[in-house]
Amino acid sequence: MDAENSKSGVTRRRFVRDGILVPLSLAVAGGAVSTIFLRKGDARNFYLRPPGAIEEKRFLAACIKCGKCAQLCPYNSIRMAGPEAGVGTGTPHIVAREIPCYLCPDIPCAKACPSGALDSSLQEVEKIRMGTAVIVDRENCLSIRGLRCEVCYRQCPLIDRAITIEPRHNTRTGVHTIMEPVVHRDKCTGCGICENACVLEKPVIVVQKSPPVQKDYYDF
Ligand code: SF4
Ligand code: SF4
Repeated sequence: MDAENSKSGVTRRRFVRDGILVPLSLAVAGGAVSTIFLRKGDARNFYLRPPGAIEEKRFLAACIKCGKCAQLCPYNSIRMAGPEAGVGTGTPHIVAREIPCYLCPDIPCAKACPSGALDSSLQEVEKIRMGTAVIVDRENCLSIRGLRCEVCYRQCPLIDRAITIEPRHNTRTGVHTIMEPVVHRDKCTGCGICENACVLEKPVIVVQKSPPVQKDYYDF
């Protein structure tokens, strides 16, 4: 996975937005949520912390805001929060819709952390748990609507493990098959590549911290 793949996701997103789809809605407004600030378009109410981050309260206490994790990230995925973050000012986070985590095999960000805010003993990318991807807008997901999209599935670095495609009968048309992307929370790392790749203006799949249980089907 490289920055070029990221760019192709954006290109397709723009193509679909401008050429095929009527824009569905504007991005979720960013703003302060308690002491947490989220950028416009970052459709979550928590900071997506870098790989290996310990529990949030302990993270805030441990992080010395040195920025080493951000310096070592080859994709510039990690950015340091500004004063709008309150107690989190200067702490690292990832805005997946802009640049997700590309799951470097050697996890250099976590290894660089001198404070223990990131678990430097983390060895396997499969064990990273930044959050869990959730299809938050099933009505607008192109695949669930019966169209051939599946971009999130194909971009997932843990394809066929973290996201699978579950075919089922399209009861709306009666003759087609719906190829539904299904996230497996026990495998999902929360890297946000699916959120970044979603072709819609407002991503229908986003990383959440404690996602609710999803319905495993949706009929129109
Ligand atoms: S694993 Fe790699 S891409 Fe992901 S945040 Fe760490 S350094 Fe950046
Ligand atoms: S390397 Fe560790 S201590 Fe330094 S900013 Fe990143 S998480 Fe915080």
